[in-house]
Amino acid sequence: MNNEELWKTALGEIELSISKANFKTWFKNTSILSYEDNHIIIGVPNGFAKEWLENKYNIYILKSLRNIQENIQSVSCNIITNSKNVPIQNAQPSMDAIVPPQNITLNKKSYFPSFLENNLNQKYTFENFVVGGSNELARAACFAVSQNLGNSYNPLFIYGGVGLGKTHLIQSIGNEIIKRNPALNVKYVSSERFTSNLIDAIKNQKANEFKESYQKIDLLIIDDIQFISGKEKTQEEFFHIFNYLYQLNKQIVLSSDRPPKAIQILEERLRSRFEGGMIADVSMPDHETRVAILRKKALKDKIEISNEAIEFIASNIKHNVRELEGALNRVSVSSQLTNQSIDLTYAKNSLSDIISSGKKKGITYKHILKTVSSFYEVSIDDLIAKNRKKEVVLPRQIAMFLMRQELQFSFPGIGDKLGGRDHTTVIHACEKISSAIEIDEKLKESLEDIKNRIYSVI
Ligand code: ADP
Ligand code: MG
Repeated sequence: MNNEELWKTALGEIELSISKANFKTWFKNTSILSYEDNHIIIGVPNGFAKEWLENKYNIYILKSLRNIQENIQSVSCNIITNSKNVPIQNAQPSMDAIVPPQNITLNKKSYFPSFLENNLNQKYTFENFVVGGSNELARAACFAVSQNLGNSYNPLFIYGGVGLGKTHLIQSIGNEIIKRNPALNVKYVSSERFTSNLIDAIKNQKANEFKESYQKIDLLIIDDIQFISGKEKTQEEFFHIFNYLYQLNKQIVLSSDRPPKAIQILEERLRSRFEGGMIADVSMPDHETRVAILRKKALKDKIEISNEAIEFIASNIKHNVRELEGALNRVSVSSQLTNQSIDLTYAKNSLSDIISSGKKKGITYKHILKTVSSFYEVSIDDLIAKNRKKEVVLPRQIAMFLMRQELQFSFPGIGDKLGGRDHTTVIHACEKISSAIEIDEKLKESLEDIKNRIYSVI
């Protein structure tokens, strides 16, 4: 087996044990440079990938290589420099040199008076963002982009559920850029705003002006890009703007509530552009991160709150950071009004109506079945049916696990809802899933994703 085959086989195994986004991001364009004295040197495209492969993925890499060649003892990475990757300032002539300036004046009378406004909210910075396992990849990617605009990852595509910090992160890039170089043109816009501005421009015969205003941008951040789904004209215009900026090495950052492949009615050429850069996801922060987010916010807003109260909030609000912050604000405001200190009892009382189990929130087992069925693309009938089709086994076990965890159903109760299965089958399923998520990063992410979806329907 030569080095190429060895790496290909190892990659096949690594791919199974980490999430798709991580795999694509970190293992793309890697190869084995040398294999000598039981030591492997992997070639990576940049320092950023080197750091991640050597620190975070070292064990996965070593394990999968050893499965193929037992005697391999260690792995390290070398950066393969790509001569094409020179900074934009030197690599490209200025945009004005390529496109003769058109007769547009961006003064107050201009059709796009807000063009020079970047629309950024200054509170969204990297300093204010708490990093944990659920967002470290996305955060690191955003940070890398802010350090080397146009040359780290382009486009950068961040996706994840509602209230998990996407807007915060992508705006942090903009704020970081402005801080370091106020002369750069940064624009943040939601895809809905982009669409409605485009429609207005077309109505007023200013489509060219619209396009040109976008062509002057150094960093274009479009939030919630999934909303261009089905909007043909928007997609077409965006495609041209995208290409224009991209070929000039200008940075494009996108966010979405789902990965590119899951955005429906999206032109194939756009989808492949979105997939052509780096894709990173954010999921729900774990307990420690939630606690850290609450602590940081309490400190910033000078809210005095006991550790138990913070623990209580963090243990009960798990699916959305915005809600987590909302709960803290709520206890803080009410404690100021009543002049009481925030301890555990106080927090419990003042949040009693929002903190409750899925049951109280109106989630039913049907929500769970529906979400699991659409997530795994299996029918609800198949989930319930007494067949042993391979592709429904895992989804069915996940549905059982969630009915137990989120709705506290009894084991026989769950068996009942799932086509009259025996309670021992249900116990087995729940145990299997809870131990599997301890070791299977991918499954854990899927489960978080499903939960987010369940809770976002209400
Ligand atoms: P999304 O765009 O994914 O819906 P936002 O970026 O609007 O979510 O985040 C919701 C709120 O939660 C914002 O106020 C944001 O500042 C805060 N937030 C999310 N994640 C974090 C984090 N890791 N650290 C600090 N604040 C966070
Ligand atoms: Mg957002």
